[in-house]
Amino acid sequence: MHADFIIRGADIIDGTGAPRRKGDVAVSDDRIVATGDLTHWTAGREIEAKGRVVAPGFIDPHVHHDAALFTHPDMEFMTNQGVTTVINGNCGFSIAPVTRPENLPIQLRMIASDPALNFPTYAAYHKRIADEAPAVNAACLIGQSTLRANAMDDLEQAATAAELTEMCRLLDESLTEGAIGVSTGPFYPPSRASTTEELIELGRTAHKHGKLYVTHMRDEGDRVIEALEETFTVGRESCCGVHVSHHKCAGLANHGLSETTLPMIDAEMKLRNVGLDTTPWVASSTILNSGRHRQAERVIIAESAPHPELAGRDLADVARDWNTDLEGAIERLLPATGIFFIMAEEDVQRIMAYEHTMICSDGMPSGSHPHPRVWGTFPRVLGRYVRDVNLFTLEEAVRRMTSMPADRFGLGGRGRIAVGGFADLVIFDPATIAEGATFENPIQPAHGIDRVFVNGREVFAFGKPTGNRPGRPLNQTAPVQVV
Ligand SMILES: [Zn+2]
Repeated sequence: MHADFIIRGADIIDGTGAPRRKGDVAVSDDRIVATGDLTHWTAGREIEAKGRVVAPGFIDPHVHHDAALFTHPDMEFMTNQGVTTVINGNCGFSIAPVTRPENLPIQLRMIASDPALNFPTYAAYHKRIADEAPAVNAACLIGQSTLRANAMDDLEQAATAAELTEMCRLLDESLTEGAIGVSTGPFYPPSRASTTEELIELGRTAHKHGKLYVTHMRDEGDRVIEALEETFTVGRESCCGVHVSHHKCAGLANHGLSETTLPMIDAEMKLRNVGLDTTPWVASSTILNSGRHRQAERVIIAESAPHPELAGRDLADVARDWNTDLEGAIERLLPATGIFFIMAEEDVQRIMAYEHTMICSDGMPSGSHPHPRVWGTFPRVLGRYVRDVNLFTLEEAVRRMTSMPADRFGLGGRGRIAVGGFADLVIFDPATIAEGATFENPIQPAHGIDRVFVNGREVFAFGKPTGNRPGRPLNQTAPVQVV
């Protein structure tokens, strides 16, 4: 028996949550062909991995790398942390289908800095991913704000019946072409102007395809309870599975509220198809004029178009230098993004420890001073929260990053080390794995990641991308599950 390569003597953590076991993993072409004791196998390449863990490559269910697949095809901010598959198109923003580019909301510039990076159909976006092949696999949701820009003249209004029909037609077409669900973002304009009824209609269209409704909810602060109720209403009325993105309880006044929100999610999950993800950080990141500065202990400027030299500075210091208040400083920095310290560590830990929560980075790669989550999310969970804080076992943490998102979004053949499955793999050192990125120095590769493989080809090794780009556009190939 012969394989293209064999990873020898590793602790295999297979992604299901099962305890690790010692063994070998053999790969030929893009598939795992054998696991266990493969002493009698030969291979074109032997990879010694004693003392290391081999796990399925991580799946990041919530990123904003829609355009980065083309502008940063090595996707180093993902592969450096062991991520092999990303899900784009979140928070209501996708770069396909765009039928009226002149009408796009400015918020879309956060994910597509080049206005030419948008696509008239989802099929065109899918084809370009297949043609250009980034280093990682990518699946995509269709954003509600993007649909609105296509179908509506006045984005500040609720959609008319005719406009909503057109949005649903475009969504239906995109889902037929392979998009894996719809994302809404009623927290942001122009999605904010939508009624619950609009959200329900989009959910109905997604449900017809057996796909998910994924949402950056209308509120994650003072009205997070009402926002959760609205999301559950959408699920109930549309029959669509709903997924709460980057669940958090933002704002000093709302610290501790996860003691209420998690039991709400738990109760709804017993009745209907509900899921959630979260990031392992007490700071969030979004547009600087989101209003979040009013609830934050500290704000760092991530990016400012008129003042790029101020990226990384504290907003309060800049306001003082300019002899103005925070509002005045924000006005002068726009368009801009910020990093907001608005969560309590106890909420972050409680949400992450909840048995149904998967891990996401919510990353946006733009600017010179991004949130460290862009580069460091997954190693941070495996280092800080597994090894140091002991929030859950390493096997459980890996499950949250692999089989859970694969099963949730219907990405068949991914997220497990199993014979016949795709060879998306990461080899890491459980004793040293940690994020390299910090709030002060956010563009840094992780520690303890040895090698990363996508579809059987090595994309990252010992701190550097290899230059291989074996990533593919992924369709939903398995039913959506509650996980
Ligand atoms: Zn979001």
